[in-house]
Amino acid sequence: MRVVVLGAGLVGVASAWYLAEAGHEVTVIDREPAAAQETSFANGGQISTSHAEPWANPGAPLKILRWLGREDSPLLWRLRADPAQWAWGLRFLRQCTAARARANIVAILALALDSRSRLKGLRRELDLHYDELERGILHVYTDPREFEAAIPQAALMRDFGCEREVKSAAECLAIEPTLAGSALPIVGGTYTARDESGDACRFTQRLAERCVARGVQFRFGTAVERLESAGGRVSGVRLTGGERVVADNYVVALGSYSPLLLRPLGIRIPVYPAKGYSITVPLGATSIAPSVSLTDDGAKLVFSRLGSRLRVAGTAEFTGYDTSINAARCAAIVRRTRLLFPQLGEAGDIDYWAGLRPATPGNVPVVGATSLANLFINTGHGTLGWTMACGSGALLSDLVTGRPPSVDPAPYAAS
Ligand SMILES: Cc1cc2nc3c(=O)[nH]c(=O)nc-3n(C[C@H](O)[C@H](O)[C@H](O)COP(=O)(O)OP(=O)(O)OC[C@H]3O[C@@H](n4cnc5c(N)ncnc54)[C@H](O)[C@@H]3O)c2cc1C
Repeated sequence: MRVVVLGAGLVGVASAWYLAEAGHEVTVIDREPAAAQETSFANGGQISTSHAEPWANPGAPLKILRWLGREDSPLLWRLRADPAQWAWGLRFLRQCTAARARANIVAILALALDSRSRLKGLRRELDLHYDELERGILHVYTDPREFEAAIPQAALMRDFGCEREVKSAAECLAIEPTLAGSALPIVGGTYTARDESGDACRFTQRLAERCVARGVQFRFGTAVERLESAGGRVSGVRLTGGERVVADNYVVALGSYSPLLLRPLGIRIPVYPAKGYSITVPLGATSIAPSVSLTDDGAKLVFSRLGSRLRVAGTAEFTGYDTSINAARCAAIVRRTRLLFPQLGEAGDIDYWAGLRPATPGNVPVVGATSLANLFINTGHGTLGWTMACGSGALLSDLVTGRPPSVDPAPYAAS
């Protein structure tokens, strides 16, 4: 079958790989000149099944209220006259109960664990290199109450197959010795040995190259204007400039922009952009930087060593489709980095970046069929797009192909 995949980020390229592997004739369309130029460009670099706890949890509403209006807060809700933002916010609140948070963790973990083992397999099979490090992920806590709260969360994750182990402060320093210089007290942590890190943009581009070698066609610099439908099916993709592309099946993997193209077809998905920031610090011979990937839970930041660079990423700002870089939020990331690693000693200018996570209220992605017979969706991966990309690409391909998937598709269904 001919399949058109819209979007060449992590999710679109992983979808294209598994669709091609299943024997389909695949074309990927993206407005950018290369793969992974938008949200998949400079993310936190973690394959973090251990990060399955969504933002929506019982403690979130109070924290968000406390942070309202604080420019440097980890999660900032900028109130806008935007009905989509308000509707998403109400759905988010409904996901903040203990029962919903638990169900969401279980759904995210199922896909993330499948995805992690697929990624490890693909790396071996395709000899992919992207500054990858298989040194695990260490969550560190600087607040004793946050650490206490993490202990049952880690136990819940272990119950569902994620090997997230609780560690004392001394054990944390043994796992990542550069933390010994921290000006903040490390009170404890959790460690997930099979989680890993790397450069998501390079991963996506290497995988896109392997897709091309397998016959996938990429049409870069090609913007999609709309999807056209007739008789309960998509009849074609109209490109900016007027050209019409026709296939048997269509996959929307346009990240945060997916709902905008789906809405005119009467398909509504609860995806809203959650802007996040990253800084990329060039390292020199004398830099003292971590090589185990870290999650600093208090500041909602992650740290990943990418060869001779340190990527620090995180925080969330709900401000529509605005991708501008806010100096106060970047300064807060630099400040926190210097507190944890006072002897970092950067070897050049820091790069600043912002990207729009395609967020669903419970951080569970939308993967599967729609009310239009030949239209499929693969988006809404929020904070864990790389962590879940291979699993959701494989799931999507199984659903398009009509094969039994290895993960129960029900929690991710679009309708
Ligand atoms: C600061 C930050 C840190 C993060 N850290 C991590 C992490 O450590 N681990 C992790 O697993 N995840 C992380 N994420 C999340 C992850 O990066 C995203 O979930 C993921 O990149 C989403 O991929 P995507 O393919 O869905 O979207 P995108 O990468 O945005 O891809 C969508 C593509 O669609 C194209 N497109 C959009 N509209 C059109 C159109 N009209 N016509 C043609 N093309 C179009 C775009 O050009 C783009 O290439 C982080 C995100 C951020 C912002």
